Amino acid sequence: MPSLYVHVPFCRQKCDYCAFYSHSLVESPRDLISVYFEGLEVEMAKRQKDAPQGVSSLFIGGGTPTVLNVNDLERLLAMIHRYFPIVLEAEQTMEGNPGTLTYEKIKLIRSLGINRFSLGVQSFNDQLLGTVGRIHTAGQAREAIGGLRNAGFKNLNLDLMFGLPAQDMALWQASVEEALSYSPEHLSLYGLMLEEGTPLYERYSAPSSARGFKLGNNIPRLPDEDQQAMMYEWAVKRLRQGGYRQYETSNFARPGFECQHNLGYWRGKDYLGIGPGGVSCLNRVRWKNIEEVSTYHNLLRKEQSPLDESGQEVLSLRECMAERMILGLRLEEGVHLKAFEHDFGADLRDIYRDVLERYNHQDVFVVKGDYFRLNPKYSFIANSILQEFV
Ligand code: SF4
Repeated sequence: MPSLYVHVPFCRQKCDYCAFYSHSLVESPRDLISVYFEGLEVEMAKRQKDAPQGVSSLFIGGGTPTVLNVNDLERLLAMIHRYFPIVLEAEQTMEGNPGTLTYEKIKLIRSLGINRFSLGVQSFNDQLLGTVGRIHTAGQAREAIGGLRNAGFKNLNLDLMFGLPAQDMALWQASVEEALSYSPEHLSLYGLMLEEGTPLYERYSAPSSARGFKLGNNIPRLPDEDQQAMMYEWAVKRLRQGGYRQYETSNFARPGFECQHNLGYWRGKDYLGIGPGGVSCLNRVRWKNIEEVSTYHNLLRKEQSPLDESGQEVLSLRECMAERMILGLRLEEGVHLKAFEHDFGADLRDIYRDVLERYNHQDVFVVKGDYFRLNPKYSFIANSILQEFV
């Protein structure tokens, strides 16, 4: 049974660092939302055959799903339920931006089955939020957290970002401490990345800048890589003390509140991604939908496939194995040895004997119970080690 992701490609306004595909509603016509819904319904009707027994979890992401108004949110959830039965008590997540949430929306989505909410707080400091063009204030985030709890959400994730312009260790610590004071069940910590083509990239990649950071001209300095690493390491320790388990490089949860939907991706489960830009992978066939909303809609209306130019890709066994290793070794638990053998017909220690031998003497990989995992003391160089499995 696959999991289901539904993409809502709209935001009130683009954040300065964001390279994800989404339409700013400040610049786009409102009727683009109607076009989106028409396309979405055609795609759901076509794809329901891929989940004949229903779906094991739901994740509505974006973009900013909560930028939709109450009627549109109701329409979205009704459409999902019409085409994709969701197993009883399954995790059903919606992402949202504090600047687009109202109590009315919160109550509605809770009443329609959403039982986990992921709130893009990023920082509890207004000045820092302003440096990256977030549309909301810290006060709106506090209000949203209160509203979500009042409405009965017992599974709440808060996203926080480190490495923001002008952020120092003390400001980062203050945001983490405030987040902890709300006892969220889950926290995701992300380092700011300068993505090409974004306003932030333009701001900090001018030729005059030092180490990619422009100095002076009232442009706040970006924390460098070492400072970012210190912020991350401090938070890892602090969250551990606070009773959270770091079950994935960027994700921390109280026991029992790990995100089941994302765990499914990382463990190699099938998934369906509906909507513009949605990515699916079923039985080793992967495809991605075209991102542009009008083109997505036009193709579907003409009963054509909404896939992007790369079309469908049949993954080789070797590619699937590599993906399982790379995603699985980012998890604290590691890769399940028996599941790997069941899915690929071989013991991963035989398949990757050469890699293991290269690292053997350094104790980089460990086997604990049924799991093969990366020794946590090497997680800071995980990316380069994981490349060995490509
Ligand atoms: S709210 Fe999220 S998806 Fe939208 S622009 Fe900002 S970071 Fe990107």
